[in-house]
Amino acid sequence: MKIRYLGTAAAEGFPAVFCNCAYCREARGALTLERRTRSQALIDDRLLIDFPPDTYLHSLAFGIDLSAVRALLVTHSHTDHFYAQEFVNRGYKFASGMREPVLDLYGNTEVRAVFEEGTRRELREDVAKGLRFHTVAPFDAFTAAGYDVLALPASHTPKEDALLYAIAKEGKTLLYLNDTGLPREGFYTFLAEKGICADMVSLDCTQADGPKSSSGRHMGFAENEIVREKLVKYGVVKADTKYYVTHFSHNSAPFRARIAAAAAARGFVAAYDGLTVEL
Ligand SMILES: [Zn+2]
Ligand SMILES: [Zn+2]
Ligand SMILES: [Zn+2]
Repeated sequence: MKIRYLGTAAAEGFPAVFCNCAYCREARGALTLERRTRSQALIDDRLLIDFPPDTYLHSLAFGIDLSAVRALLVTHSHTDHFYAQEFVNRGYKFASGMREPVLDLYGNTEVRAVFEEGTRRELREDVAKGLRFHTVAPFDAFTAAGYDVLALPASHTPKEDALLYAIAKEGKTLLYLNDTGLPREGFYTFLAEKGICADMVSLDCTQADGPKSSSGRHMGFAENEIVREKLVKYGVVKADTKYYVTHFSHNSAPFRARIAAAAAARGFVAAYDGLTVEL
């Protein structure tokens, strides 16, 4: 399994879209190295996780053929994870020679509502035929693009059932855990019941080592360490499981070298835009 991080920032990006703080000013001065776009990951060039407004930029930056993507898992409806309007361009005069004629989208009921709202004005019927939406809920198990997927409950927002995902194929398993605060107990017991043994865990690290947010909707290193301990306790990881951290806020000063060192000191690897991990 090849996992590629296409974007590793929180909702606002880094430097943040409208921000003039000291960190963002500094990052703007070293854009090619320090820029972080909105969170997205690609597995084996076939399965996308999330669809932020930066998806088009990701295809340009990393030479990705989005016509070859077979399925999309959406974590939740926040705009940094799901930019529905873009799908009107997936066909008609705007796209041809598609390697995959149909894209299967998986998301919760709120993601479905955003998909319908966002495409209502401009989505042509012939383009709609190539987009199949599947509504999924926490604890659902399904197959997407040939991967075995478990939808898991996030602790992120009371407004919708935000999802985390366990994705498995050919004996390799990825746990993709953002956006979320500390997961509830049922998350771990479900993984244990399903016999999950993750090779890689990707963790929401919005706050990194910055001041803790009281919202409980995201994590930093301190919470990431708690999650790692729990995963070990429930026996759903191995001794050599790899732990990556991502989805950094501009407030956490997510400069590449600084975050890499802070993460490494705690046994994590800090993701960055373009990082590829082979399992
Ligand atoms: Zn987010
Ligand atoms: Zn800023
Ligand atoms: Zn969110």
